[in-house]
Amino acid sequence: MNHRAKNNSLATVTATELIEQDVQSSPELVGHAAKLCLFDELEPWQQDNHYLISGYVRLTGSVRGCVASLAYLHNESVNIYSHLLPGLSTLWYVHHYVATKLEIYPTYFGWERFNLMMFAMAATTCFAMSASFHTMKSHSHDVYRSCNQLDYFGIVVMICVSLISIVLFAFHDHQGWVLVFTATFVALASVCTVVTLDPQFRSPKYRPFRSMMFSVFGLSGIFPIVVSIQVYGYTEAIARTHAWWLLAEGGLYLGGAAIYALRLPERWGCHSHRQGTFDYFGHSHQIFHVMVVIAAYCHWRSLLGAYSYLHENLVTGVTA
Ligand SMILES: [Zn+2]
Repeated sequence: MNHRAKNNSLATVTATELIEQDVQSSPELVGHAAKLCLFDELEPWQQDNHYLISGYVRLTGSVRGCVASLAYLHNESVNIYSHLLPGLSTLWYVHHYVATKLEIYPTYFGWERFNLMMFAMAATTCFAMSASFHTMKSHSHDVYRSCNQLDYFGIVVMICVSLISIVLFAFHDHQGWVLVFTATFVALASVCTVVTLDPQFRSPKYRPFRSMMFSVFGLSGIFPIVVSIQVYGYTEAIARTHAWWLLAEGGLYLGGAAIYALRLPERWGCHSHRQGTFDYFGHSHQIFHVMVVIAAYCHWRSLLGAYSYLHENLVTGVTA
């Protein structure tokens, strides 16, 4: 602990000196640098990752101050824009794709567009909640807590709609399974929403239960794959869901979560003379955000593949 404390104080000195040097060499930076602070200056409830030592936005106490932080560089900038830009573009892109580029087969049912748009809205909700949280977390403790809950709620919406969207394509000719899985996912999403938003689950003693519920919810996506293999056989099941894209999606979510939990690579930077190397660019939460965006793209490809497979191989004999 002494060694770590010594490292932290060294890191603090280094970062303070760097900021002072920047301010002295560039007077125009004074305004923005004054809005930033070090890890040790944060309120206890703000202190989350001690490997990131500088670049924190000081408590603003106002929405205007938080929104203004979009205009200068700090250690949440990449976290914000990595989800703000996809949040702003996903709905537009999917709507544009569905309206102009989506192949409409003679066997087109009508609900497929709605299914693709539901996924786009869920992804947009998830990205928007995340970008809002990272923008508003410097407002105050209450706003931090509320936005953090909404960030988790966005994840619940994303998981739930993603799972249902693929089941609708894969089991389109077995509506019983569609109902079973949809009911299961909605029930799990409801439990996760309650443990996220209900204040009585806020205490640390419920944290393991909350983590477990989110893990169970995410991993429940394996069941449709297993059931589809039993019902349709391995080859058919893989083709119906375009499972390789789903596998890549799952790997990205799990890999991103692991990097986030392990605090890599900033953990390595802290033990060398390069303290603070990843404060602004390249730290674990940013990597996690980017992997989530790529995972969402993988899901989109899986949905497109499942849609095409449905009409090119399964319902080709049906006339419109
Ligand atoms: Zn985040």
